Parts: sequence; C-alpha cells; structure tokens
Amino acid sequence: MVEKVFWSNPYLREIEAKVTGVEGNVVTLDRTIIYPFSGGQESDGGTIGGYPVLKAEIIEGEIFYTLEKGHALKKGDQVSVKIDWDRRYKLMRLHFAVEIVLELVNQNYGDVEKIGAHISEHKGRLDFAWNGNISETFGFLQAELDRIVDADLKILSDFDDADKEIRYWQIESFAKVPCCGTHLKSTAEIGKVTLKRNNRGKQKERIEITLVE
Ligand SMILES: [Zn+2]
Repeated sequence: MVEKVFWSNPYLREIEAKVTGVEGNVVTLDRTIIYPFSGGQESDGGTIGGYPVLKAEIIEGEIFYTLEKGHALKKGDQVSVKIDWDRRYKLMRLHFAVEIVLELVNQNYGDVEKIGAHISEHKGRLDFAWNGNISETFGFLQAELDRIVDADLKILSDFDDADKEIRYWQIESFAKVPCCGTHLKSTAEIGKVTLKRNNRGKQKERIEITLVE
C-alpha cells in the first residue's frame, strides 16, 4: 500500500517516488504527497513525472491517480511528485477552520446533527439540521475561533490505529477528533476567517467559511 507522506509531513511540496502500477491513465505510487479527495477535503492539484493529476481517489487505502491520456510512465519508473502548494495550504487552513467551528458547535449547542461538510480551495462549509437561524451563534463562534487562532495553539496529528490508518488531531484542553485529513501544526496558521450563513431549506442551515487573504 502507498506510503502517505502527506500525513507524516503535510508541508512537503515535492518528493521522489516509484511507480508501482500503471493501468491505462491510472497510476499508483510507492509513496505520495498528493492527497486524494476524502473526509470532505478536496484532492490536491499536482503532477507525477511532470504529468498533471486529473483525479486522485482512495479505495481501501490505495490511492489511484488519473493522468492525461498519452503519458509515458511505466511500472518501476522513478518520478518526481509535486503538489500545488498554494492550493493545498488554503485547503489545510480552511479544513482546520471547519474543524474548529464544528467542534465549537458540538461543544456548545448540544445535540446538533451535522448533515454535510466540504472543503474547497475557496470555501469551507458545514451543514446542520438546525431549528432557526444559525447566524445567531456567529458572535460566539467568531469570537472563540479568533481567540483560538490568536492563541497559536499546537495541533497534534497522529495515528489512533496505524494498521487501519485511523488518524486524529488534538489540541490539548480543547478536543481530540478523528480525521484523516492533512492538518496544520498550529492554529495561528488559519489566520483570519469569516463566517456566513446560507439557508438550505427548512431546518437546514449552512455555515460558509472563507479565508480573509
Ligand atoms: Zn481534519
């Protein structure tokens, strides 16, 4: 199975790897830094041996990269694997902003059901089954989020179960949460973010989170 270096070092922008399989446009690697869409976090942009990755998909722990037709990669090739760092870093910052907002909602608003989440390069969103107008929480959420960002808290990421590849992030005295995304080292890296309400229908409330560049 592919070694997921995006976990051990989520700040790496380039590594050397070996092609372990080629089937048409789809290749597998022995190690990688290109994160595949999962847990609501979109895939990284990147290249393998100079070929742009069109799609990155994880299936039972293996990661399948779809390249453009006509690539010349063969099994056993040594290749450079690169990611679009600007995109990845925005994804990591928004991902963690989403993590903190979700945790604040869970800790402070009782039995709230999360019904969706997604993190793109430009926006994070959280959907809740919610009675009323969720923006009534924004004064509290924004203040707490700002406090946590300003406090520059250390974020620990590690395996709960390395064989099953179950991971978590933890901020001491705040939360420990299972998640297999790529995480920042510190809350200060999130920077300033804003919250916006989007009503998605009866009792469906969305929080949209954007970075203030
Ligand atoms: Zn996460």
